[in-house]
Amino acid sequence: MGKPIPELVKKIIKEAIAIQQIPSPTFEEAKRARYVKNRFVDENFSEVFIDSVNNVYARIKGGEKHPVVVSAHLDTVFDSSCDLSVRIEEDKIFGPGIGDNSLGVAFLLMMKHILQCMGERPEGDIILVANACEEGTGDLRGMKEAFARTIKENPIAYIVLEGSSGADCIYTRGVGSIRFKISAHGRGGHSWHDFGNSSAVHGLVKLAAVLTELSVTVEPRSTFNIGVITGGTSINTIAQTASLLLDLRSETCDWLDHMVQQVKQMIDKFSMDDITITTEKIGDRPSGMISVASPLISLCHSVFLETGFNDAKFKSGSTDANIPFSENVPAVCIGICDGQDVHKPSECLMTGSMDRAVEKVGKIVSRVWQMEKF
Ligand SMILES: [Zn+2]
Repeated sequence: MGKPIPELVKKIIKEAIAIQQIPSPTFEEAKRARYVKNRFVDENFSEVFIDSVNNVYARIKGGEKHPVVVSAHLDTVFDSSCDLSVRIEEDKIFGPGIGDNSLGVAFLLMMKHILQCMGERPEGDIILVANACEEGTGDLRGMKEAFARTIKENPIAYIVLEGSSGADCIYTRGVGSIRFKISAHGRGGHSWHDFGNSSAVHGLVKLAAVLTELSVTVEPRSTFNIGVITGGTSINTIAQTASLLLDLRSETCDWLDHMVQQVKQMIDKFSMDDITITTEKIGDRPSGMISVASPLISLCHSVFLETGFNDAKFKSGSTDANIPFSENVPAVCIGICDGQDVHKPSECLMTGSMDRAVEKVGKIVSRVWQMEKF
């Protein structure tokens, strides 16, 4: 056994705050990526580099077996003007992005120390990835690139760490989404003199009404939302263009495809004099899942119980694990701690169970090669 865990918890928290202090909005992760790269070098990891989308890689050498990939996203939902001040109370840390996901990245940086505490030597290499573009419109671009690069080594599993997504949460289903910008184009003109000319706004709201009739399922859960409508220039102008943003979500690729087909048919059938409709796909996150009876999830569940996370729940969510899920490669996303007000400036990380969380993550990573036994 290595150093006692309380000392390591202090180091992890210090590291999480250092990471959180560097702004890292989606698509603007370069500065945080450089910091993480330098820290990976300090920690003596091998093969440290940054790829073209700001993913940072490092490797812990292990035995001869196939590697495991452990990742945490670098980006946050906060723009670069956000006040990143941190406030520490007894077992809480307040600060935008502290749990989501500076803590996850801090776990990557401290992985050697965590494994030392577990007293186990990995049976294969551990490939660490601090990846970009998990949030917002990032479209999982970081994980898509990291997956394409690492899958060549045939990893036994992908383990995604989320700092404040629930200490008891094991994500086994990836909610997929496809997003469209749908625009109407009309002739436009003066609202009095040109009355009768085609209006993009009138066309778009009629089409929007049709789209709200999309059929969805409860199991697998599927949803849709028209979140934004924009268009027109003034109250007395017949609009020439108008657009809406449509978000389709499902736990399965089949239903997602089915909803996309429905949308296409609705648009094809829609006809209004002198109105043209154009569609642009602005987001594509595949869905997928892993069976709760699979060896990887059985291992995770047993470690959660062993480390005192007795309320372990299997959840669905949109995380970096969607990418390996969608390719049927064993994967899981693990919540490290509990958080409050995640994605808000008032975000708070609950650190009370951090010592057990270190054990939980350390045991899952170090035992992943034995998962068939669970
Ligand atoms: Zn996150």
